[in-house]
Amino acid sequence: MVEKKKVAVIGAGVSGLAAAKAFKERGHEVTVIERSQGLGGVWEPSRSYPDVQTQSPKDLYRYTSKAMPGDYPEWPKGPQVHAYLEDYAAENGIVPLIRYQTRVAGMERRGGGARGWTLKLEDKDGASTGEDFDFVAICTGQFSEKNVLTHPGQDDFVAAGGKVMHSSEYTDPAALRGRKVVVLGFSKSATDIAVNAVKSGAAAVTIVYLESVWRIPYFIGGLINFKRILYIRAQEKMFPGWGQSWLARANHAIAKPFVWANWRALESLLTMQLKLKKTGLKPNEPIERGINCSVPIVTPGFFDMVADGRIRAIQGTFARYEPGTVFLTGGERVAADIAIQAVGWKLGVPFLPEEYRQKLVERDGQYRLYRIIANPDLPDMGFVGFNSSFCTVLSAELAANWLVRYADGMLARQPSAEEMNRNIEMMLNWKRKERPAAGVYGGLCVAPYHFKHFDELLADMGARVRRRNPLAENLTPPNADAFARYLASTPQYRAA
Ligand SMILES: Cc1cc2nc3c(=O)[nH]c(=O)nc-3n(C[C@H](O)[C@H](O)[C@H](O)COP(=O)(O)OP(=O)(O)OC[C@H]3O[C@@H](n4cnc5c(N)ncnc54)[C@H](O)[C@@H]3O)c2cc1C
Repeated sequence: MVEKKKVAVIGAGVSGLAAAKAFKERGHEVTVIERSQGLGGVWEPSRSYPDVQTQSPKDLYRYTSKAMPGDYPEWPKGPQVHAYLEDYAAENGIVPLIRYQTRVAGMERRGGGARGWTLKLEDKDGASTGEDFDFVAICTGQFSEKNVLTHPGQDDFVAAGGKVMHSSEYTDPAALRGRKVVVLGFSKSATDIAVNAVKSGAAAVTIVYLESVWRIPYFIGGLINFKRILYIRAQEKMFPGWGQSWLARANHAIAKPFVWANWRALESLLTMQLKLKKTGLKPNEPIERGINCSVPIVTPGFFDMVADGRIRAIQGTFARYEPGTVFLTGGERVAADIAIQAVGWKLGVPFLPEEYRQKLVERDGQYRLYRIIANPDLPDMGFVGFNSSFCTVLSAELAANWLVRYADGMLARQPSAEEMNRNIEMMLNWKRKERPAAGVYGGLCVAPYHFKHFDELLADMGARVRRRNPLAENLTPPNADAFARYLASTPQYRAA
């Protein structure tokens, strides 16, 4: 018999909602703790820049139990994703479980040898209380702590009327009208904001980037939705994965020239389609080497705007500010009223005690997480959504369903601490030696190995159904309805 637990879910984004549903469905008492005033995490309106939309097509950015509305576009806009998440939370009875404007400021093991953790909870006025939980699901995402850069001269730049902001603070396009804007970074948010600045009537727009990277257009060759090429199992098989048998290695060796030709053909197509030669933005690294969660989708219009000069692209980074000017490391001066730093987020779990943080994160920043969900040396806790992907709603939902079974000792393949540690070492070794690109974001990314990762989670959960017919399975993207069936085929139980 599985004992009912008091469970804290930290964070009410995509992953926290998935975790709340999974633990609630198994009969546990769930409290969702969310520091902001609304649910949705990165999709919460006060954190979303104008024109934000998903990179994943809508059928790949959804929970298995709920499709996105039929009238949504293929790549829904931020407010649409937010509305979808609000509906999902309401329909699944999660809304009353959420405690808003409550921040987890720390946690420690419960006293008296009891299992679980005491969370230090801080309300919006800074008042703090301690509360005990038997199990903690950490769903704080990879986009919670802003990476903020400061450069010499910034105070004088601001004192003279300039503005410096993080990409997540850019919510009002009217503020850019008639202003000279410099965007630092080359992620999807950086190019989204640069294009939005042009459309909003900025007087000049410059984007400053360290290295160009390959980007995938929504339609490859202008015709084929990228999901039909980059999300399919047949494509995934071109990447040598972890734990390969000698036969799989031999197959990869034989196929190597064909795989190589496939990638060069894709590079040529993208170079032509995106005018990469003309704009000088053709990356140096072979495309296949860098495919992971950091590969951005092309912001429509970006390359055209660089090609016709509406956006100036300069390689380098900020060196210092002077009033009205940003100086770059290459010596260029860029006249600027507003500097927007699209330089991402800091990874981490700041409320975890140092002793446990050391067990979680290696010196080189790689996370020690079995299946990117749990660590045997961090008892009574697990991580949902840390297995980020090109379809994070699905990967978070599968992780949530895995985690509740792990917490309850109900996985069909419940691993021992020794098995988990052995697997963690194998994965770290593979990431460090064979596929450095898999080490991006501390190794917390499953792309492009979605199917391989999902296969493992489903097998661990004891899913009796795990595949569609071979044609659909190999040549079409992950199908949320099929995953609903796979989850339904796992052994069911309820805590009492
Ligand atoms: C602009 C943008 C577009 C994206 N598009 C895609 C896409 O198309 N496809 C895709 O797969 N992924 C995409 N992503 C990645 C995205 O992060 C994930 O898809 C997903 O939304 C992550 O959800 P999450 O719940 O794990 O994290 P988050 O959305 O970051 O939610 C974490 C929550 O935890 C809360 N929190 C953090 N710390 C604490 C604390 N100490 N106490 C209490 N609460 C706390 C935060 O307030 C937040 O609400 C995108 C990300 C961004 C920023």
